[in-house]
Amino acid sequence: MSGLYIHIPFCARKCAYCDFYSLPLAGVPSFGKTVARFFQALEKELAALPAGFAPDTVYIGGGTPTALDAAQLGDLLDLVRRRVPLAAVREWTVEANPGTLDAGKAAVLRRAGVNRVSLGVQSLDDAALRRLGRLHTAAEARAGFDLLRAAGFDNVSVDLMYALPGETTERMLADVRGLLAWQPEHLSCYALAIEPGTPLAEQQARGALVEVPDEEQAEQYHALRRTLLAAGWEHYEISNFARPGRACRHNLNYWRGGEYAGCGPAAHGHTAGRRHANVEDLDDYCRRIEAGGSPRDFEEELAPEAKARETLIVWLWLLEGVDLAAFRQQTGFDALALSGAALEQLCAQGLLELGAGRLRLTERALFVSNRVFAELV
Ligand code: SF4
Repeated sequence: MSGLYIHIPFCARKCAYCDFYSLPLAGVPSFGKTVARFFQALEKELAALPAGFAPDTVYIGGGTPTALDAAQLGDLLDLVRRRVPLAAVREWTVEANPGTLDAGKAAVLRRAGVNRVSLGVQSLDDAALRRLGRLHTAAEARAGFDLLRAAGFDNVSVDLMYALPGETTERMLADVRGLLAWQPEHLSCYALAIEPGTPLAEQQARGALVEVPDEEQAEQYHALRRTLLAAGWEHYEISNFARPGRACRHNLNYWRGGEYAGCGPAAHGHTAGRRHANVEDLDDYCRRIEAGGSPRDFEEELAPEAKARETLIVWLWLLEGVDLAAFRQQTGFDALALSGAALEQLCAQGLLELGAGRLRLTERALFVSNRVFAELV
């Protein structure tokens, strides 16, 4: 399998916790011209992909693709359709944020062949949404979800954040239950991380915000996991849950060590055994492509063993665990021999388990997986 990721570097405004590369619209002069220039560069970057490149999945993220107006969104999807043979695409996801989505944009997405939308809800508590600097209210998030259903989307993922400062486990679970009542197909649940250089980090530095302690974060994580499992959901990746059969194919390919091309500023990719990342600057990205050059900031070929170790760790994010035979076939390495004594120790500590030809994290290890991975590298 192979995938295509496209990064859209615009957001209606910057959230207080965000360190992704995106430009708030208020800071983009002549937005229409900037978008047109970006699309020309993006089309050239897509055209430069290997001639036979035909991804099984396409994922347009950001940033906020729905920060574009309906006509711009249509132009973006048209340029993807000009390059990508859609007959081969099994899943085409676009990220959307409530407050930037309307019926016109939902219809544009649907008409173009997008068959999955990931909606950035984050919380159903208006006070928490304000503290996070989100644009929308809980009611607007629900309205965005309903718009997608009305447009015909039967595969909608919702993002939820837990470990929000001042939020109890019960309050967080109220969000989980609220979202279950919407009946989405997929939920991505991430703990709030306070990243350096963000407004939340400044608040933390002056004592106006206290990060939720690790033990409480773990309690919330396991509580939301139990709630979703009890509702019949599958927990298929450390932070991702799905109704049966609705796991994200694009991300499954990534987690199983598959190849994917990354286009747009700040996009990462992994193709033909090489890892690459584009420059994190829209103007630089456009200038390089306009000058006939590459937008890549770096490109490297990992040594086979380093690549195998990386694949092992990313694959362990999946609860199904690493298929040892498939791993050997894909990387040329025996996963057990590769991780040697560390693996034995982690199994003895009850953090990893072996069975039925697979190596997987135990339930106990799910929230402390970074500790496990640090031992394995
Ligand atoms: S909408 Fe997403 S990408 Fe944009 S600023 Fe907020 S968190 Fe960052």
